[in-house]
Amino acid sequence: MLAGLLIAVCSASLLFVGYVASNASDQQAVENEQHLFQNVLQHRLQSLVQEQLYFARSDDAVRKLVRAFKVPFVQDQLSALWSDHNHSRTVLIDSNRTIRVEAFGDYTHITNAPLAGNPLLETVYDQAQAHYQKNRVRVPGGFSHRSLQGLEPEDYAVLGFAEVDQRVAMIGAVPIMPDYDRITLPDGPATVLVSAVFIDGGMLTDLHGQLAKSDAMMLQDLSGALSFDQLKFSRTLSDQKGAASLTIHGLEGQTLGAFEWQSRTVGMSIWPTVIPVVLVLSVALAILAFGITWRIGELTKSLQESEQRNRYLALHDTLSGLANRLQFNQALAKATQNLPDTPFALLHCDLDKFKHVNDTFGHAAGDTVIKTVAERLQKRIGADGLVSRIGGDEFVILFHRYVERDRLKALSIQMIADVKQQIPLENEAFAQIGLSVGIALAPDDGSDKEMLVTAADKALYDSKGAGRGRSAFVSEEPQRAITRLGTSRQAAHRDRSDAA
Ligand code: GH3
Ligand code: MG
Repeated sequence: MLAGLLIAVCSASLLFVGYVASNASDQQAVENEQHLFQNVLQHRLQSLVQEQLYFARSDDAVRKLVRAFKVPFVQDQLSALWSDHNHSRTVLIDSNRTIRVEAFGDYTHITNAPLAGNPLLETVYDQAQAHYQKNRVRVPGGFSHRSLQGLEPEDYAVLGFAEVDQRVAMIGAVPIMPDYDRITLPDGPATVLVSAVFIDGGMLTDLHGQLAKSDAMMLQDLSGALSFDQLKFSRTLSDQKGAASLTIHGLEGQTLGAFEWQSRTVGMSIWPTVIPVVLVLSVALAILAFGITWRIGELTKSLQESEQRNRYLALHDTLSGLANRLQFNQALAKATQNLPDTPFALLHCDLDKFKHVNDTFGHAAGDTVIKTVAERLQKRIGADGLVSRIGGDEFVILFHRYVERDRLKALSIQMIADVKQQIPLENEAFAQIGLSVGIALAPDDGSDKEMLVTAADKALYDSKGAGRGRSAFVSEEPQRAITRLGTSRQAAHRDRSDAA
């Protein structure tokens, strides 16, 4: 689970990095598109000024418009700006700040209206005059305009965006100026031609074409051109997903609206690289995690096995496989806790003259005898008690099946008989061994561990003392037992000293 979590965190981090990189490249793509769009708009504005210049920069225009005011000429020229270049609104303002002509499409309206009261036209006119003042040159008989060669349209014309009749339009304004200097301009402000082209479907198609062309020129390959899908102009910015935009400001800096298009989301191109990397790393991590988990599992298993073995060794006798003294003590402590409700018996057994087996057949044969006796005792007792080997040739049985003396007596006789059966040794030899048993009853002969162990030990000594190969109870009745115990122990000691 931990490994899975680790992989998930790593993959999520990689995906996050991919997401950030993808966003950054999308951002960069939008900035590139905005930059390109800005250039195309600038180019379109400059074209508007160029279109105005066909008419505004001519000796004819100075002669028939500034010097004299020839209505048919003016009408012709302004109509041509509409029909040839789609200049939707055209205005001529003379040096006296008077609007002389206004054209709406192909309709030309000759007027004599003061400029005052039309803030947009006043701004455009004043900016155009400022340019003109900078660029006019004195010539014999009046003034002319310096050559446009090497000048940027921004140096002699006004260009930008403005709101005209509640619609956003590109706007350009140029002074009327001579081209071959065969005629001069009078002193004073210039006559200014102002043109507006609305940002409409036609303009958007036009811009779209130019965008594709300039992008292809930059990329040297038309197939790679940016699409500028769904290009539109709106007065309020929509919050469309994936939309890029370029905000348009008026001549006085006010926001007029924005061009919007679907950006080419180059960021998506990062995923075919990121996803395989994430997959490969995840698989590598999974393999690593699996390897580590498997190794930890192996170590845990071997630790558990070793722990189990240690626990077994701690509680069992290695030679016979029976419970050892520690396990016997624990079981006895537990059994005494349940007294007096659950009575039990302790049968303390010791092989008779076992040293003799060792001396006769050797230590290994002695071991075989101990193992065989252990098996026989275990078989006889089964699940009715705990058989343990507590030392050399000593066994203790914690017996809980019954505590009646006659039944215990019968049991001990069977045990002695079992042990007495011949024990086969190597080289077709046989050993025969006797068993002495001392029986203590809990709670009759004591209710704590030490008392019971001592009592059973004393009963064993009694049976040894009485000639071995038999069993003895601590006492027939508690009162008598104490006297008899003392005598029996003395007898047993005597007997042992004799044997030694
Ligand atoms: P008794 O009838 O009085 O019990 O005489 P005994 O010869 O059995 O003497 P005792 O019980 O005091 O001695 C037990 C002997 O068992 C002492 C030792 O040499 C032997 N012995 C103890 N542990 C082992 C063992 O693990 N293997 C073998 N082969 N002999 C053992
Ligand atoms: Mg013995």
